[in-house]
Amino acid sequence: MKIILLGPPGAGKGTQAQFIKEQLNIPQISTGDMLRAAVSSGSELGNRVKAVMDSGGLVSDEIIIALVKERILEADCADGFLFDGFPRTIPQAAAMEAAGVPIDAVVEIQVDDGELIKRITGRRVHPGSGRVYHVIYNPPKVADVDDESGDPLVQREDDTEETVRDRLAVYYEQTQPLIAHYKGQPSIAYIEVNGQGDVAAIQSAISKGLASGK
Ligand code: ADP
Ligand code: ADP
Repeated sequence: MKIILLGPPGAGKGTQAQFIKEQLNIPQISTGDMLRAAVSSGSELGNRVKAVMDSGGLVSDEIIIALVKERILEADCADGFLFDGFPRTIPQAAAMEAAGVPIDAVVEIQVDDGELIKRITGRRVHPGSGRVYHVIYNPPKVADVDDESGDPLVQREDDTEETVRDRLAVYYEQTQPLIAHYKGQPSIAYIEVNGQGDVAAIQSAISKGLASGK
């Protein structure tokens, strides 16, 4: 199954992706995680994208499309994948259509702006795995330490209140048009989920939606 997780920054895409990928046994393709790995490795790509990521802007469609096209050719994507944070613009969605990559389902996670800001400013991440925590809503067992590996958790450089507002503006302008784009396609199941509330309840709403196609 080829699934897109759609929603503003902080909606819980990464959190829910951990469950969906295990349940369906498909890889999570997080363009944000891929770009952050490039930045921390100091690669040429990483150096090119760091400033725009720190400012909350979007990396160019050209770079993102090339990155994703290469990733989905890998063997683990043969039975499908879960896009998390991609596509984020109409041209990115169009590139998948032009490449003949049919999407089965879009899961849209809906959360209010005020809640998004609280979530993002309290977010802590484990860079190695993409596991996500929150200092209040979803704390690790030991403060600032990843539950599984024992590695230290970090706060992303773009997770400040100021940058979050810019990221939300970018979302409404460039990514939100994807909602109408995908809702208008009869071959794609469009699943809308209220992303506020208990993580497990949201997980179960997503599972039900994927099973029923609505
Ligand atoms: P969040 O989970 O908070 O929505 P991501 O980890 O998905 O954020 O993305 C972090 C940053 O990486 C974005 O603000 C943007 O600069 C860049 N990025 C990630 N995915 C894309 C994409 N599909 N297109 C353009 N830029 C992207
Ligand atoms: P996204 O990938 O959409 O940017 P994340 O999954 O990283 O979002 O979640 C953003 C922050 O909100 C994280 O700190 C996460 O622990 C927290 N979070 C995720 N889901 C919920 C929820 N249902 N209720 C409260 N906090 C949540």
